[in-house]
Amino acid sequence: MDRDKILLTPGPLTTTLRTKLAMLKDWGSWDSDFNAVTASIRHSLLGIIHGHDSHVVVPLQGSGTFSVEAAVATVVPRDGHVLVLDNGAYCKRAARLTTLMGRRCTVLPFDEAVPVSPAALADKLQQDASITHVILIHCETGAGVLNPLQEIADVCAAHDKGLIVDAMSSFAALEIDARKVRFDALVAASGKCLEGVPGMGFAFIRKAILDGCAGRSQSLAMDLYDQYVYMEKTTQWRFTPPTHVVVALAEAIAQFEEEGGQPARLARYTSNYNTLIQGMAALGFKPFLDPAIQAPIIVTFHAPADSRYEFKKFYAAARERGFVLYPGKLTQMETFRVGCIGAIGPREMEQAVHAVAGALQDMGITSAALSN
Ligand SMILES: *Cc1c(COP(=O)(O)O)cnc(C)c1O
Repeated sequence: MDRDKILLTPGPLTTTLRTKLAMLKDWGSWDSDFNAVTASIRHSLLGIIHGHDSHVVVPLQGSGTFSVEAAVATVVPRDGHVLVLDNGAYCKRAARLTTLMGRRCTVLPFDEAVPVSPAALADKLQQDASITHVILIHCETGAGVLNPLQEIADVCAAHDKGLIVDAMSSFAALEIDARKVRFDALVAASGKCLEGVPGMGFAFIRKAILDGCAGRSQSLAMDLYDQYVYMEKTTQWRFTPPTHVVVALAEAIAQFEEEGGQPARLARYTSNYNTLIQGMAALGFKPFLDPAIQAPIIVTFHAPADSRYEFKKFYAAARERGFVLYPGKLTQMETFRVGCIGAIGPREMEQAVHAVAGALQDMGITSAALSN
């Protein structure tokens, strides 16, 4: 059937028709109408974190990872030393890109089922004075853990260390207030909780460190300082902008504001999450994480213990019913993930649970319980 499937994934995610329709127009990158759209997006983004006084925002072409990489290259001096707080797959990605950017990188490992520890960070900073910057993943999308942004930021501030936050899957859904949380850079993207389409990221950079960022990046295209200076001077993007993505994001932000901004988005996602958890529990599914540390963004479930279970078949059967699930990203055990984000509500989540029940039935599984 010619109907879009519901994407229960951590991006790309389901968008509204209004957002999709915004893309049916061509724009010139030098055109003042288009540049006004860029300016308005940047203004709105700063508003979301209450960052007009303290931060600037720099958009960048590409998927979210491009902006994380660009933020590290732009903010960390070439002889800097980055500490990555690691409790999952996206943390490991941040460590890898930091190393590839030629920065010294140390990883502080944690279990993927618990948040990273501010006390352990404080100890580490005490032990190793050479660390200049810390990278935190706000919501570790790998398992779905919510990390303690405020506490980590406070430890970094107390030790006078730079903090780079990957807030890709939390921005616009969870509260991030630049007046309370001190960070040097915070990165997110168009295609996550703002419910735009994928294709651009953006980094908030603290004004106080901005001038020092000149010339740090060893990459031309990923230099956020240059992108910033050029955009301020000309109102244009430095290189060809993803015009359709930008206008779709403007339309998505308008809907975000009409819905009631971040608190309203969090309320909808929380209601999606609750509907999902209750429905899946009734089928016998057990979430991997303790609910106390689980963000209402993406949920990791244990796969059923039944030997007839196979993710590929399960995925195909749910997809046939119109719902796209996501594979697990844990190393030690068989899991799968279900996203709660996107232009969907509790009704769609109810239908998703129904599709999962049908998928189990197709595989001849009567209960998803782990032991029977
Ligand atoms: C989605 C995501 C990213 C970016 O992934 P891309 O595939 O590059 O868009 C980075 N970090 C986290 C935590 C994410 O959820």
